[in-house]
Amino acid sequence: MNLPQSVHETAVKQPEQIAYEFLGEQYTYAQFEQSVAHLAGALKERGIKKGDHIALLVGNTPHFLITLYASWRLGAVIVPINPIYTPNEISYIVQNSDAKFMVALDRLWPMFDKREILFPNIETIIVCETDEEAIEQCMKMEDLLFFRRFIKTASPINELLSLDKNDNAIILYTSGTTGHPKGAMLTHENVYSNARDVGTYLEMNANDRVVATLPIFHVFALTVVVNAPLYRGATVLLLPRFSPREVFNVIRERKATVFAGVPTMYNYLYQYENGTKEDYESIRLSISGGSSLPVSLLHNFEEKFNTRISEGYGLSEASPVTCFNPIDRERVPGSIGMSIVNVENKVVDTEGNEVPKGEIGELIVRGPNVMKGYYKMPEETNAVLKDGWLYTGDMAKEDENGYFYIVDRKKDMIIVGGYNVYPREVEEVLYKHPDIVECAVIGVPDAELGEAVSAHIVLKEDSSLDEQAIINYCEQHLVNYKVPTRVHFTDELPKNTTGKILRRSLKDTLLDKNKAR
Ligand code: AMP
Repeated sequence: MNLPQSVHETAVKQPEQIAYEFLGEQYTYAQFEQSVAHLAGALKERGIKKGDHIALLVGNTPHFLITLYASWRLGAVIVPINPIYTPNEISYIVQNSDAKFMVALDRLWPMFDKREILFPNIETIIVCETDEEAIEQCMKMEDLLFFRRFIKTASPINELLSLDKNDNAIILYTSGTTGHPKGAMLTHENVYSNARDVGTYLEMNANDRVVATLPIFHVFALTVVVNAPLYRGATVLLLPRFSPREVFNVIRERKATVFAGVPTMYNYLYQYENGTKEDYESIRLSISGGSSLPVSLLHNFEEKFNTRISEGYGLSEASPVTCFNPIDRERVPGSIGMSIVNVENKVVDTEGNEVPKGEIGELIVRGPNVMKGYYKMPEETNAVLKDGWLYTGDMAKEDENGYFYIVDRKKDMIIVGGYNVYPREVEEVLYKHPDIVECAVIGVPDAELGEAVSAHIVLKEDSSLDEQAIINYCEQHLVNYKVPTRVHFTDELPKNTTGKILRRSLKDTLLDKNKAR
């Protein structure tokens, strides 16, 4: 079994079931299947075959879903790329992935104009029409094909190709904090098993309507709000972007049953003045992942919206989910939950030996969801895949009941005069302060202690807290070496498109500022 096959079967068994909704339109599984078959036919006529790589630069629109499943029907491999990356970032990924075909948003037309320099390996570009002015610009360029017309050019391919479970399905470039992004090769078995196991674990069913506001080119959304619901025959409610107003509207109007977001989204929804318990009433399952959900935010949100948030954990290299809090038993605040079925999680020391329960070590993972390796990067692959285990780079601990807790990223740990400080524990304390909307803690060079704790804080508008007040507050809750010695107030924290706070970028900005002095 694989994902294209299972979605095809749903289209046969429940043709009238809604597969996805977008901008007020509903599309049944039968219509989805038809679009997929047509696009597969058109791609095949253009020479796309098994093993070819297709760069996909599209946000949360039906083009993404149709291209993904049409490519899989031919055995082609999708390389999803965030369309708001800079031309250089996009150019690097497109070239490194050896893509020969590109499906991209019309808004990217300035890049199409320079395609010979930016993407010399791309033979064909298909433009997805979303904006009148951008379409006009694209029409001025020769050789571009247009999605709407292109899909109608060939006879549909209705039969499914038999796929080997070890064939690549996706090459997913992970941002990586150093050097260039690396392409995690996820096979059909990887993406299928994770969508199946997550969908089953979360008991998704045909009555579920799942809000897809997380960017679906990112693996969290791809598995949790796209592939798992489609595998279980549920409906995906595609939102082109995140805004609290839109989220509450779609939940209320479409009686959505599942919401998945990163902690910053939960924070925005919580802070949004016009969101009420009634707006959130139809949600049976709130899912958080992508970074750690501050415990105080979890409690505040649950209380305000009368819901229960189930936090999970994953990473691109594991397709991504490895742990989840149970939905049928008590969830544990601050924990990423237990290993999902078929996946093993283990906490090890620097030699790779399992540490006793309660002790901190690196989290390693094994299962059918773990990637084959990084594309064309054997050294980087060998650094993270050892004896069948994926080394996550996350420090964690496990309790007596099998619940795991992420302490922090290994590389984000701060060493203050020889003592280890994990930014997350300081952030958890800061988040409990009623005046603090958002915060991030990083380590900065310190002449005396090696590193010092630096807190970056967004305050509520009417707050009058100053640096000393923050330090005094932290002193009441933390041992002295963990108390921030530098406090910066800011209007906004840097985030990536998934909404994860970028500690790395805070660090770089601070270092640049210090250099300039
Ligand atoms: P990505 O490959 O972009 O999905 O990023 C994966 C990383 O996100 C992991 O290695 C973790 O550092 C972080 N992450 C994901 N989920 C959680 C979570 N629930 N708690 C803490 N960190 C998380």
